[in-house]
Amino acid sequence: MIHFNKSPVTGNELSYMTDVINSKNMIGDGYYTKWCEAWFEKHLNTHKALLTPSCTAALEMAALLADLQPGDEVIVPSYTFVTSASAFALHGAKLVFVDIDPATMNMDVSCVENAITERTKVIVPVHYAGVACDMDRLMILSKKYNLLVVEDAAQGVMSTYKGKALGTIGHLGCFSFHGTKNYTSGGEGGALLINDVKLIDRAEVIREKGTNRSQFFRGQVDKYTWRDIGSSFLMSELQAAYLKAQLENAGKINTKRLALWQRYAENLTGLEQKGLIELPVIPSSCEHNAHMFFVKVQGVEERGELIGYLKREKITAVFHYIPLHSSPAGIEHGCFNGEDKYTTAESERLLRLPLYYDLTIEEVDQVCSSIWKFYS
Ligand SMILES: *Cc1c(COP(=O)(O)O)cnc(C)c1O
Repeated sequence: MIHFNKSPVTGNELSYMTDVINSKNMIGDGYYTKWCEAWFEKHLNTHKALLTPSCTAALEMAALLADLQPGDEVIVPSYTFVTSASAFALHGAKLVFVDIDPATMNMDVSCVENAITERTKVIVPVHYAGVACDMDRLMILSKKYNLLVVEDAAQGVMSTYKGKALGTIGHLGCFSFHGTKNYTSGGEGGALLINDVKLIDRAEVIREKGTNRSQFFRGQVDKYTWRDIGSSFLMSELQAAYLKAQLENAGKINTKRLALWQRYAENLTGLEQKGLIELPVIPSSCEHNAHMFFVKVQGVEERGELIGYLKREKITAVFHYIPLHSSPAGIEHGCFNGEDKYTTAESERLLRLPLYYDLTIEEVDQVCSSIWKFYS
């Protein structure tokens, strides 16, 4: 049986978690949290990293930092995970969905300018499969129209765009350490990266239930009080301990995943040359993190047949993202801007293949030979 995903374990997770348990202090913002935050600030070059319970929580913090008023609009691709959009709807935004570029499945930046109105406040580029959106063009638009850019880099930890880490280019960046992502903090977890220094103080207050407790612990104020709206956005120290073990092996995990990804690409390129499937495209401006390997087949029926065939070969392959603009809550909270040229059609062709840290090259070969058999 070849599973679709297994969460990575690299070796030191248990001993670091045991250390936290033995310390009898498992509250957030302890040694392990600070270590991980400093690691991101140093290695990815951002002003501030704050660990959160999930990427969804980081997106919700971004929505609070955006100070959304009723009727304000947020531009987001329709082809994405629910919370890229719902985190903003939760705080009153109207969602404006835009089409994707079929090459990368990322937001088509040429559709974004048309979608901007005087109510637009935020743009949410989602780096699908850890491959960057066209950030240069987006940042130019954000300057021109004075918009906040919140990168949903849930899948993009350790990827770069023109040498800059994903999540560090927009005003805010959101990471996920969910058990299906490249690095996990024990199943659930995330981080908010704050690249615009003006937002740091308020982000700390929002994360600490609306209090200035972070300043208090640094000795900057002599008591802490309720200052602003906020919520409970700290990660448990136990999860941060798990994450430290993963970050210490970040290079090893990345190298292994890239090798597996490359093997898929080499094995399946012949099927692409025959015109039977399409493989992912990595623009030259991007270094990706092998978050995902997918193929695109002719259509939804062929995809169903291939999934069934692989299942009989004991291989789990999955698809995802029912376009948000056609989902019940997406219809209620937003609308599609422009023409749905690619979102629906491409979403029905995409199939994700197993890819995780423990997968072997032999298993990749087995998946590929099953796909070849299906097409012969
Ligand atoms: C996984 C994912 C999320 C949500 O991450 P959580 O940490 O589970 O909240 C958000 N956006 C995208 C694009 C994702 O892939």
